Amino acid sequence: MSVFSKIIKGEIPCKKVYEDEEFLAFYDIAPKAKVHILAIPKKELKDFNAIDSALMGKMSAFILKVVEIAGIKESGYRLVTNIGANSGQEVPHLHFHILGGERLGGNFA
Ligand code: AMP
Repeated sequence: MSVFSKIIKGEIPCKKVYEDEEFLAFYDIAPKAKVHILAIPKKELKDFNAIDSALMGKMSAFILKVVEIAGIKESGYRLVTNIGANSGQEVPHLHFHILGGERLGGNFA
């Protein structure tokens, strides 16, 4: 079980931004920008390759709600998802990095 599954189950605490029945958003423990939030589906999916288009549609709407709540929708932000070994993905549970709150440099999450 990945660390994010444990967060979903409440076995590991997180600093929650927003949650609904299917998704959860919380602050990254090692932020790479002033605002660094992770948005995840509660369904156990390894990465972006595993999500179907219907759930991805809902995930998009969820992310838009999160950036509104975080106050970064208009100022701009970067959305990053790592997939597999070459990307350096560390946690094998689909997550979108939402980075913003400042002018971002060239280093991706
Ligand atoms: P990735 O390399 O795309 O798999 O990113 C995994 C991200 O999860 C990293 O940015 C970590 O800082 C973050 N992370 C790992 N454990 C936790 C945790 N317990 N709470 C919040 N963020 C975490």
